[in-house]
Amino acid sequence: MLLLSVILSGMMVWAQDLPSKDPDFSCTNQATAQQYVRDFNIDTSSFGGMELCNSKVDTKKLFNDLEVIQKGHFNSFGNNVFIRGFIPANNYYSWMKDQTRGIERGQDVPYATAYNRGGYFTMQDGWTQLSTLGRVGTVVHEARHTDGYRHVPCSYGPYQGAYLDGCDTDYDYAGSHAIEMEYYARVSVLGSNFHPVYKTMARLMGIARGNFVFNKPVISEKEGILALNQNGTQADLIVDDQVVQRDVPQVQSAILKRTSFGGAMFDGQKAYAIELYGQHMQENIDDSYSYYKLLTRDKAPIFDFEEFDVAPKRFVLQMTDNQHLQFFNFPEGDWDSPTTLPIQAQRSATRLENGQAGYFLIDNQGLIYPVNTRTHALDQALSLKWDPSLVDVASYNGKTLLLKKDGLIYEKGSNGSESLWSFGKNHYSSMINTPVYNGFTVEK
Ligand SMILES: [Zn+2]
Repeated sequence: MLLLSVILSGMMVWAQDLPSKDPDFSCTNQATAQQYVRDFNIDTSSFGGMELCNSKVDTKKLFNDLEVIQKGHFNSFGNNVFIRGFIPANNYYSWMKDQTRGIERGQDVPYATAYNRGGYFTMQDGWTQLSTLGRVGTVVHEARHTDGYRHVPCSYGPYQGAYLDGCDTDYDYAGSHAIEMEYYARVSVLGSNFHPVYKTMARLMGIARGNFVFNKPVISEKEGILALNQNGTQADLIVDDQVVQRDVPQVQSAILKRTSFGGAMFDGQKAYAIELYGQHMQENIDDSYSYYKLLTRDKAPIFDFEEFDVAPKRFVLQMTDNQHLQFFNFPEGDWDSPTTLPIQAQRSATRLENGQAGYFLIDNQGLIYPVNTRTHALDQALSLKWDPSLVDVASYNGKTLLLKKDGLIYEKGSNGSESLWSFGKNHYSSMINTPVYNGFTVEK
């Protein structure tokens, strides 16, 4: 009996996962806090003063990050394209300590989440807005810069074409982005004492950032279809001619939106991430991986939000109401001033029946206006009109798919004919194209 309880309590201690959210961290003990301050030369006053318990104070946020770095443990078996052994897996804390001359809080570079100057890190507002995982990833990323690893201008993504050094040439360079991605992949694939939600977040983050921060891609994308069941509790993911069910976040009257890591549920105010690779979701996870994270800056409901690529560039726009459209200016780190539209939009679309992709606004006559990503204004209405029986349009293996108001998905034939799509097994309320990356396995 005694032996059993010892084993049980031992197991419980062993099985205790690190927290994934700030409110779940216990108070940092005084001696540990002092060790962190000493090891990393933390300017606590710039973070809001010494704080052991309240995560609303940035000092405690940093302590939580360092606790995860110090206590996180990794198994040695398991492969992933991002895991190369750049940093010894169970040595992050001492490696970090070696790479850090000091850490302070500031906000003087508008586009950066944090920066490193000669081993001194400045954690900016962007860092405080991230999840614990995103913050830890940022700290690990910054540490790599101390050894002289530098970024170059981006060939893809939101910073493509900007005169900013934001990307790494390739993964083999083992720069800051690679160190960050390796950390996420290790947590996801090898992590032994991380919270399951933290592990899911690590996978989402690895995919969301790993798909554009390397000028030579490490992971490649396949287009899948994600269709939300009418009951709103599950979605069907169709990829490689296989249908798999996915849990979706439980959100009232939300629609699917394509994101850089896959898909999200958007309710007009917030977006929640969908886990395409794992079968079950433990809880709703805010989408802080794609640029839907910008939504948390403004809590008011909006008309629309979209993250979309016009290769090689990624755009993010929002419509605060049906007549005002704003693009996010990545180099400036802020929204451009809104364009007032000559129409009142009824809805938007990212794909049309004729196969055209981009961002389109549709008025109450069904007239379709392409949004010009260069001028931020509307181009002339197309001759094609929006069919009122359509809910969403997507593309699969070169075929155009139409989700109609009857909840069924139709495939468009080359002669314009429409037939029921063989992989559409349910009645659906929303449908998107979703990128599925080869870096992680889609659990069946
Ligand atoms: Zn960097």
